[in-house]
Amino acid sequence: MSNLLEVRDLKKYYYLGKGAGKEQSGVVRAVDGINLTVKKCETLGLVGESGCGKSSAGRVILCLLPATAGEILYEGQNIEQLSHHQLLPYRRKMQIIFQDQAGSLNPQLTIGNALGEPLLVHRLIREKKELKAKVEHLLELVGLCPDHMCRYPHELSGGQRQRIALARALALNPQLIVCDEPVSALDLSIQAQIINLLKELQQKCGLAYIFIAHDLRVVKHISDRIAVMYLGKIVELADKESLYSRAKHPYTQTLLSSIPRLAPSVPRQPIIFSGDLPSPLCSPAGCHFHTRCPHAFVRCTIEEPLLQTVDFGHTVACHLLDR
Ligand code: SF4
Repeated sequence: MSNLLEVRDLKKYYYLGKGAGKEQSGVVRAVDGINLTVKKCETLGLVGESGCGKSSAGRVILCLLPATAGEILYEGQNIEQLSHHQLLPYRRKMQIIFQDQAGSLNPQLTIGNALGEPLLVHRLIREKKELKAKVEHLLELVGLCPDHMCRYPHELSGGQRQRIALARALALNPQLIVCDEPVSALDLSIQAQIINLLKELQQKCGLAYIFIAHDLRVVKHISDRIAVMYLGKIVELADKESLYSRAKHPYTQTLLSSIPRLAPSVPRQPIIFSGDLPSPLCSPAGCHFHTRCPHAFVRCTIEEPLLQTVDFGHTVACHLLDR
């Protein structure tokens, strides 16, 4: 199957100036040369700790933030270079939902107006009657009833607001949705409902997702392939089965070991990170993970490991592969 999206050597740097109230100046390499592909109807999980650059990657891919370097190919077209006007048709095809459902909805708009707004802005609907029918259809798609049209965001629960955010993303019939930590702020039972809804809508509407999360347990339920990020770089990329059963990178292994199990057949000793995530302002030389890696050796402090293929579709960036 051909790629819907291809990201080549994508970089996003933030340049910090030394001004009033700022202690440091320098460059934050939030996204530092990542390569990704997403096929139609596929879910690519993007995981890593807070500050690893996954949300920046999601926003740059959607051209909500300008890239520092690299290419973003959507159905073969490099959209990174397009003007605001040329980008409009692609904006319809690519949508985003955020972790903060309350913050992503205008508190002064009723749900009906919030859902109708993108349809009017993109001039997809002109008649009031048609708009009402479309909004009702969107509400039905996400499991809500037409009564919700007249309510305001503060009158809904967190789960209902996330359903509205999803309905809003669906309004323009997108092909790709970037889900940026969409369930992190929700209770466990509601998380499961939203994940199931995303899977159902993927089948029904033929959607592809980039699912951003810090929790490998959540990502497992929805992803076909998973990319693990550490300080702006992808350190391991594999299909779900390979990653969960044969993870090769020490960082991925550490993340996996921290997933709680209800009935472990074999007792497992969690691997504990030594130290905190280094500041992205001064990433360690060589392998960025060497300051926390239990297997680090001299080469790791000098030379940056490159992604190597270890199996079909499974790539890892670690010097241990050469030992
Ligand atoms: Fe650890 Fe070295 Fe592999 Fe980095 S390259 S993950 S420091 S063993």
